[in-house]
Amino acid sequence: MGAADRTSRQAESSTEILVVGSVNLDLVLTLDALPLPGETLYSRSSRRSPGGKGANQALAAARLGGRVRLAARVGQDSEADQALALLREDGVDLSAVEALAEHATGLAIVEVDAQGENSIVLVPGANLVWNDLGQTVALVADADIFVCQGEIPAEVVDAVSSACSPAQRLLLNLAPVIPVRSETLRCADPLVVNEHEGRAVLALLGGDAVEEADVMRDLLDAGVRSVVMTLGPRGALLGDADGLRQVPSPQVEAVDTTGAGDAFVGGLALRLAAGDDLDQAARFAARLGAAAVTRDGAQPSYPRTVDGLPSPT
Ligand code: ATP
Repeated sequence: MGAADRTSRQAESSTEILVVGSVNLDLVLTLDALPLPGETLYSRSSRRSPGGKGANQALAAARLGGRVRLAARVGQDSEADQALALLREDGVDLSAVEALAEHATGLAIVEVDAQGENSIVLVPGANLVWNDLGQTVALVADADIFVCQGEIPAEVVDAVSSACSPAQRLLLNLAPVIPVRSETLRCADPLVVNEHEGRAVLALLGGDAVEEADVMRDLLDAGVRSVVMTLGPRGALLGDADGLRQVPSPQVEAVDTTGAGDAFVGGLALRLAAGDDLDQAARFAARLGAAAVTRDGAQPSYPRTVDGLPSPT
């Protein structure tokens, strides 16, 4: 799709999605085996690619026509240019991405072994430095839906969510789980977590359930408005005042699952902003998550068209 097409397509969409989140440059190292303590290894290959949960989610929504603004922090370095390249190309509004002189762009060192098992070290850098929070909070007024994740400080997520009016919607993807206030959790509509994160969020609210459905019910009983639990190839569980239900994921041949969760969240935000209900939006998000696992990488795996998205079988 050309830039002109994208501009006219975005002009038609009046609903703004504000993503407040992280930007990283991913350094992906492929290895025969993950290093043991004290071991030094040569990697088989290495590549740098744009990442960070905020950036990934913003891109996934923008590539399919969302009008998306990203609020984030990067360094004044060449890594920032690489990390923001695809967002720029796909028309994400980067006017609220601040480049800080004294901090480096976030870095994720991703080690992948021959079996596809990975381990990740995050160097958060500028992602943790939000000095002028008032400016970010002010952006919420323009957004119909806003999306936060856990790779930025909990105070930022709390401040942004406290500015949410009843006409707006917070999509809170608490990955990783950070100690946000319980008011923030109760404002989420939906809270999006995987099964491990779901248990950890429930623990923040004083619960200790283990089974997926029990965790969902206890989160809802604790006052969270709606919950989406992503379950990899099994799709997702949804829960709200209407009870729990399952959303299937298309069966696909998984090549690389990196960034599937972010594709799901981006798709969910896109469809909720377009007026879908939670069930419709989650069905679409599951198809986008499944599409993302059929291609290598995170951002490069996100489709630019809904044609050919896999459907549940
Ligand atoms: P990550 O943070 O590692 O990207 P996650 O744990 O947040 O992942 P998942 O539950 O693994 O998120 O994936 C999100 C969605 O992507 C799932 O709900 C599902 O719809 C889709 N998905 C993920 N893996 C597969 C798969 N192997 N086959 C089909 N769909 C998948």
